[in-house]
Amino acid sequence: MEAGIVGLPNVGKSTLFNALTASQAAQSENYPFCTIEPNEGIVSVPDDRLTKITQYIVPQKVIPSALKLVDIAGIVKGASDGEGLGNKFLSHIRQVDAILQVVRCFEDPDVIHVSGNVDPVADIDTIETELVLADMQTLENALGKAQRTARSGDKEAKLRVSVIEKCNAHLESEQPLRTLSLTEAELAAISSYGLMTAKPILYIANVGEDDLEGKDPLVDKVRQHAKDSGADVVCVSAKLESEIAELDESDRDEMLSDVGLEEPALNSIARAAYKTLGLESFFTAGEKEVRAWPFAIGASAPQAAGVIHTDFESKFIRAEIYTLDDLEEYKAEKDIRQAGKLRVEGKGYIMQDGDICHFLINP
Ligand code: GDP
Repeated sequence: MEAGIVGLPNVGKSTLFNALTASQAAQSENYPFCTIEPNEGIVSVPDDRLTKITQYIVPQKVIPSALKLVDIAGIVKGASDGEGLGNKFLSHIRQVDAILQVVRCFEDPDVIHVSGNVDPVADIDTIETELVLADMQTLENALGKAQRTARSGDKEAKLRVSVIEKCNAHLESEQPLRTLSLTEAELAAISSYGLMTAKPILYIANVGEDDLEGKDPLVDKVRQHAKDSGADVVCVSAKLESEIAELDESDRDEMLSDVGLEEPALNSIARAAYKTLGLESFFTAGEKEVRAWPFAIGASAPQAAGVIHTDFESKFIRAEIYTLDDLEEYKAEKDIRQAGKLRVEGKGYIMQDGDICHFLINP
């Protein structure tokens, strides 16, 4: 699962991407499945529950969950017509699972704003319009083909035609597809098109260093806009975070307390991006390592096992599961087992956020 950082030029995308990938850089040997391009980074997702687990199970190493970030620079007004590096960047957005849009809320006369003044909601509209137009083009191309196939009586193609028409009507009213409610079958019918406005979005308000909580009315406007489309907003000062990210740990703590932050805002961004991707975590905990793993909300136990190793999904026998509450109450896994609290779950079990698991796998 990967999230792409987008935004108009000069809003602080690169500053933020560099800060995130420098300070939260996950050790890549733990994530061997990822090939990394220069504009990509693996960012770890801080989770207090790992610290709590390690109070009872002391491992040789602790590995947080992680997500892949892609810096998709270069979207400008007119991108859907191939303006700027339009097509190339749109094709990058099509490939990601979620969009993180950085919007500029900071004032700084030294940093030119592409449209002349700081107006984050106008910036959101500019990008949304480009993505709406690009999705309309995608659907226009797809419609003719689907109609031809539907004429031969193909049921799936008929469904596709009706979903495309529904989506088109929604886009024509200048609404992103994420605000259109579709059934699972309808979503599946158009899933291969990479429709950008259907992807979940997180707004990252790049606020001034003197407004870390985002009290500026401009940020409220972003919050309202986000609320209307079911999205979240996180506030960050990219500039401050990039300075914090460069410090060593003791200086970092001092600077954080100076500016009144409990932790770097980058942590909140990583967690919010994870949530926007529809991910939750389960844990594996032993003396060798305590590790958080991502799973898509609603995943079954075999699918979760498949995150650890692809083979594990088909070789899954059962899972033994307990929770952090159990661990805090009984202090050790053997005592959880003895108290009969270690749950045995089969193939149909739907994973819950925070499950601590052992998977039993066919050799
Ligand atoms: P991008 O084009 O969106 O990738 O923007 P950059 O990250 O390259 O930033 C553009 C300019 O804005 C640079 O000169 C940054 O130093 C500056 N900048 C980025 N974030 C902030 C911020 O939070 N506050 C201020 N004052 N300047 C920032």
